[in-house]
Amino acid sequence: MEYQSAQLHLETSKLMGVDFLPIGVVQSGETTLDDVRVEHDAHCPHCTVVTGYTQTVFGEGNPNAALMFIGEAPGAEEDAQGVPFVGAAGQKLNEIIQAMGFTREDVYIANVLKSRPPDNRTPLPSEVELCGTYLKQQIKIVSPRVIVTLGSPATKYLLQTTTGITRLRGNWSEYLGTPVMPTYHPAYLLRNYTKETRQEVWSDMKQVQTILSQ
Ligand code: URA
Repeated sequence: MEYQSAQLHLETSKLMGVDFLPIGVVQSGETTLDDVRVEHDAHCPHCTVVTGYTQTVFGEGNPNAALMFIGEAPGAEEDAQGVPFVGAAGQKLNEIIQAMGFTREDVYIANVLKSRPPDNRTPLPSEVELCGTYLKQQIKIVSPRVIVTLGSPATKYLLQTTTGITRLRGNWSEYLGTPVMPTYHPAYLLRNYTKETRQEVWSDMKQVQTILSQ
């Protein structure tokens, strides 16, 4: 019920021409990731109405990273630790990051949703819109040279598309002038651990390395 009222609020705001949720502190050029985190935890219309999670998982890494990874939402491990990508999918992401010649401390990692969806279900489009506005603030502050979207929800949200990840992966797109490389989510890779899927992800990451080395 509470969630429905948040949705109604969003829809009413949209009808009134508001296409970006007002976030008080996020106005000056000096806004930090911590400012956004505090604002998010106090006011996120999604995370303040959805219940059942332990803590929010804001994001982690180098605030000036050249490379930013964006996943879907925290899972059970992330919910317990308050850190993104620390479960099985996180281990796979770590391997990918290392294979690219980076450490976790070099990159910035965030999710579209900052709180674990009930039973790990796929985020609803309305949840993505409500929580995603904070992701946009994170991207603005980190200002990476390249963004890698991991899986469908992150890719669809950032690129505002309904096209599936299988069609989009491996092809450069753009978010507000920043190159975006969509690739499979590490959890998908683990579920479909074939030579083909591994080669596809690696070929996507090689394209990212090429851009970053220029
Ligand atoms: N899957 C995600 O999309 N994000 C996490 O942080 C963990 C698993």
